Amino acid sequence: MSQKVVLALGGNAILQPKQEPTYENQYENVYSAATSMIDIVKAGHEIIVTHGNGPQVGLIIAQNEAAKDDIKPMPVFVSSAESQGMIGFMLEQALKNKLKEANIDKNVVSLLTMTEVDKDDQAFQNPTKPIGVFFTEEEAKKMEKENGFVMAEDAGRGYRRVVPSPEPKKIHGVEEIKTLSEESIVISSGGGGIPIWRDEDGVIHGVDAVIDKDRSALKLAQQSDADTLMVLTDVSNVFINYGKENEIKLENVTVEEMEQYIEDGHFAAGSMLPKVESAIGFAKSGENKQAIICSLSDAVQALAGEAGTHIKL
Ligand code: ADP
Ligand code: MG
Repeated sequence: MSQKVVLALGGNAILQPKQEPTYENQYENVYSAATSMIDIVKAGHEIIVTHGNGPQVGLIIAQNEAAKDDIKPMPVFVSSAESQGMIGFMLEQALKNKLKEANIDKNVVSLLTMTEVDKDDQAFQNPTKPIGVFFTEEEAKKMEKENGFVMAEDAGRGYRRVVPSPEPKKIHGVEEIKTLSEESIVISSGGGGIPIWRDEDGVIHGVDAVIDKDRSALKLAQQSDADTLMVLTDVSNVFINYGKENEIKLENVTVEEMEQYIEDGHFAAGSMLPKVESAIGFAKSGENKQAIICSLSDAVQALAGEAGTHIKL
C-alpha cells in the first residue's frame, strides 16, 4: 500500500566527520543517499525529505568568524537559512539526476522552511547546542563580553559558542508541503528549519538557535499527515546496551517498551535520544502511524518491515 513517508536524513550522511567539506564530497554523499530515496519512490510511496545541517551550519559560522574584520557576520538564523539552501540545492540536484537515470517522470522542489518556536522556551535560558569553530578560554571570555555570546567548554577540545535548541512548534508552509508532495518530492525544514518567533502583532523575528532536526521531523510528519516517520542514520537499528558486549538490536518495539528503555538510560542525549523521542511522539499520533529508525542503505527493506527498528503504539 502506498504510504506518505517523511524521511529524515542525518547530517553525517551528508558530510562524514573526517571528510574535507568540499562541494564535491557532499554532493557525492547526497547523490548516493538519493539512491535509497528514489528506491522508496519506485516502491510506490510519496516522500517528503528533511535533513540535518550540523557540520554545514558550523562551517558557515566559521566563515563568518574568519572574515569578520572585513564583512560583518550574519546572525545564526541567517546561517541556518544559508545551510538549508545549500543542502536543499544539492539534494534537489542529486534527486533530479537520479530520477532522470531511472526514467521516472517526477519533479523535486526544495523549500526554505521556517520553524516557529516559543520565545519563552526554557532552552533560551540554557543554551546547550555547540556550533561553529573552537576558541581558547581567553578568546571565549572576550567574545562573551564583546558580542554577548554564550561560550562553553566542549568535551576538552576548547571553547565554542553555544546556542539554544528550543522545541519546534509549527512548521511554516505545511499545507503547501502537503499539496506539493502529492505530485513531487518535497525537501523541507532542513537543519530543523530556520528558527523564528512571532510577536503579539504577528511580526516574524529570527532567533539565534539551532532546532534539532529529529524533533522538527516529528512536527513535519505530524503536521503533514504522514503515515510513516523514517529516521535514516548511520546505524542499522536502535540498540539497548549499545556498544557493549551484551548489546541487543531492537526490531519491533512498543511505545511503552521504548519509554522504559529511555528511563533506563540506553540512548545518548545528543544523538539517539532525540530520534527515539521523536519516534515515540509519532507512534503516539495514532494506531496506523509507524516510526522507523534505520540505516540509509536499509530504507526500502525497512519500509517493507524487513529491517530497522519499528516503533508502534
Ligand atoms: P545523525 O547525523 O543521523 O543525526 P547521530 O550521530 O546524531 O547521527 O546519531 C546516530 C548515532 O547515535 C549512531 O552513530 C550511534 O553512535 C549513536 N547511538 C547512541 N546511542 C545509541 C543506541 N542506543 N543505539 C544505536 N545508536 C546509538
Ligand atoms: Mg544527530
